[in-house]
Amino acid sequence: MTTPNSNPGFSRYNRQTRFAPIGDQGQQQLFDSTVLLVGCGALGSFIANILARSGVGHLLIADRDFLEISNLQRQVLFDESDIEAGFPKAVAAARKLAVINSEVKITPIVKDIDYQNIQQMCNGVDLILDGTDNFETRFLINDVSNKLNIPWIYGGCLGASGQSMTIVPGKTACLHCLMPDGPPQAGTSPTCDTAGIIAPIIANIASVQCAEAIKVLTGNLPSDSRLLIVDLWESHVRHLDLQNLNQSKNCPVCDQQNYRWLSGEKSSFSAILCGRNSVQLNFPEQQSMDLESVADKLREIGDVSVNQFMLRFQTANEAITLFADGRAIISGTDDIARAKSIYTQYIGA
Ligand SMILES: [Zn+2]
Repeated sequence: MTTPNSNPGFSRYNRQTRFAPIGDQGQQQLFDSTVLLVGCGALGSFIANILARSGVGHLLIADRDFLEISNLQRQVLFDESDIEAGFPKAVAAARKLAVINSEVKITPIVKDIDYQNIQQMCNGVDLILDGTDNFETRFLINDVSNKLNIPWIYGGCLGASGQSMTIVPGKTACLHCLMPDGPPQAGTSPTCDTAGIIAPIIANIASVQCAEAIKVLTGNLPSDSRLLIVDLWESHVRHLDLQNLNQSKNCPVCDQQNYRWLSGEKSSFSAILCGRNSVQLNFPEQQSMDLESVADKLREIGDVSVNQFMLRFQTANEAITLFADGRAIISGTDDIARAKSIYTQYIGA
């Protein structure tokens, strides 16, 4: 990694270093930083774009998904050629970011983050950014953040509103302090499927997350616990003061180090994908899949497209996408049992 002072191209960052709270020292701290971005969809692709341009030295981008045309409305890093190329989001993002800023290192990780792999992904990581669309992963991030003493920045959007919170272990409240009953029950809250989402709220919340990231990475840690709540349709911005949230000091995560998501106790292995009429199936015992040999089998009964990262196969009413790490996404159903049945029918148990 070249340092900002030895690199004649350092003028790339001069608008940022002229901002007094960052300066040359802050820029060097950004260069020396490693950030794990979990999810590279709407929030994640915006965050990746800004952090790469800002000169964060190493960006690990973990995403389990592939690109679809309906993503382009709000996932600002991608275009139609990425969909045509058939790359997973993490790979498409890394290719785009390498052209935007060749001075930073980008590592795409085409995986579903779960309790078995998240600790390994956090090796050497200074900060975790939330680009996910689900609370199960956020509670997992919250556990690993506390256990490994890594700050993380929560962000979530729905409709025209969104929220963000910066969580620093030992200093601020955590996600479990904010939501002591854990994630909302499936089916009880609106989703982007039922409530929709507009692109401006994504840019708004992702911008807040990026600013918080730059603050944390340059040593400007938050002095208090706050939840930012924005509603762009009602033109409301407010902060919820969380200073007195955990006065009884009985948070299972902060106070008791009881990591139920990280231990796997709370983890599930199938998930309905928000707004996609799709189900993802995870097989922890299956770490990889020979996509070519599966493709050979499926070509006899229908249309198959395959590359080194994934395989797609169209059935009568559904489509199967298989990833090289053994996961599958069944599109055309939001019924987990049906999805498992399709998987068993075409891929095998
Ligand atoms: Zn807590």
